[in-house]
Amino acid sequence: MRERRKIRDRLSIRSMKNSLIRRLFLLGVMLGISLLLITLHAEEARLWNGNAGTVEITPGESMWMAGYAARKRPYESVLEPLFAKVLYLEDSDQDPIVVVTLDWIGVPRSFRNHLEEKLAERLDLSPHRLLLNASHTHSGPMVRVYEAPDGTMKPAYSNIPDEEAEERVESTLRYVDSVLEKIELLVSEVREGRKPVAVSFSKARCGFAINRRTPVGPGKWKNAPNPEAPVDHEVPVLQVRDEQGDLLAVLFGYACHATVLSGMEINGDWPGFAQKYFEEDHPGVIAMFLNGCSGDQNPYPRRMLNYAQRHGRAMATAVEAALETPAQILSPRSGAALHWEPIRYQEPPTPESLKQRSQSSNRYEARYAAFLLEVWKKEKAFPESYPVPVQVLRLGDEGGGLTLVALGGEVVVDYSLRLKREWQEQDKGTVWVAGYSNDVMTYIPSRRVLMEGGYEGGEAMRFVRSAVHPAPWVPEIEEQLVRRVHLLHDQLRTVEP
Ligand SMILES: [Zn+2]
Repeated sequence: MRERRKIRDRLSIRSMKNSLIRRLFLLGVMLGISLLLITLHAEEARLWNGNAGTVEITPGESMWMAGYAARKRPYESVLEPLFAKVLYLEDSDQDPIVVVTLDWIGVPRSFRNHLEEKLAERLDLSPHRLLLNASHTHSGPMVRVYEAPDGTMKPAYSNIPDEEAEERVESTLRYVDSVLEKIELLVSEVREGRKPVAVSFSKARCGFAINRRTPVGPGKWKNAPNPEAPVDHEVPVLQVRDEQGDLLAVLFGYACHATVLSGMEINGDWPGFAQKYFEEDHPGVIAMFLNGCSGDQNPYPRRMLNYAQRHGRAMATAVEAALETPAQILSPRSGAALHWEPIRYQEPPTPESLKQRSQSSNRYEARYAAFLLEVWKKEKAFPESYPVPVQVLRLGDEGGGLTLVALGGEVVVDYSLRLKREWQEQDKGTVWVAGYSNDVMTYIPSRRVLMEGGYEGGEAMRFVRSAVHPAPWVPEIEEQLVRRVHLLHDQLRTVEP
């Protein structure tokens, strides 16, 4: 190395003595400057137009909480505020990607429909470029009401006393409408304030999620940590920085239920604390959580406030670590596709079997069977399928870019593990798989979990009223959804939307 430098020094001294070579040298300098300018221009071309924003959505009046069927009264106090956040990224063709995250139990389909309409009117936003994701906090408000078979509107929770039902429906609708308005306004404001930003992707790991399906005999599962079963401990992070390289926003993911707490106080559970801590450590930066394939993943240990805080701290630290790992720069190119994949149900129950089940000693099973029986009496038929949303967003184009897959429902972890494996095998670049997106109608088991049975395999459907799920999904559910993801991705590769 030193030898080479000496030779170079000698050469440069000699060249300065020679006027012809000096002229060539000047030409070289000019060429160098031109190259630098071209590079700088290319750097500029690597910028998106983006921005992020936050709005508080803590309920202002008495409401029932969502997440646990056992709760018997409205929330008592607010431990931590709830938020909706927006990330807006516009590519070099001025096509935007809008990500909305919510400290809610889920995204009702009707909510997505309304927001989609409002943003199409106001900003001419294409539906496939809008992604809504819920943190699945079990310490937030009930956000669903449904039309019962008798034509009346009812709250989604069967513990709500009949005499309260009407009032609860009204307050829920009032709250949901107010959040809709807040988000509509926030998206517009965030868009107004867009500026040149660099977008990159990196990841870290975090370990508090554990598979919650523990076998306790043939076909029987209990909700307890099973350290032998699949997990996805990756923490994908999208970094948004301004032209100076300063961090403006992070969008981070993780596959884990937000179920540390089950009390009567409103809060965002561990994802709420993770976002709060990261934002406190980085004043002015907006931290957003995109829930992953966490259908069968729980945080452990749980049930104490300090565990929610510690898991939140662990996650904020993991996001911090992701900022130090090699980042993939995403050029300002994007593609988006959204398809509502009809997934069929298995053979529906007969009215006779439902009559029998409505006498079950399990009161949730009895109420579910009675509900289905009512539907049957009115409709004389059950729905044969349900449209599960499959969204594929592509950011950047070099090396395949980043594919952000957003699936509806409470997707189990097998989906993200499988898609990441297939992305690698097929050399498709980087993939990030989110669940709880665009419509959270019930659990989305893999073939394995469906065949094994238990809560995530189909039993959880008995708690749903805002959709009629007459029977478990067909075992083809996994193949169908995975095939659709690949199909949408491959379409985006060949056609620019
Ligand atoms: Zn859940």
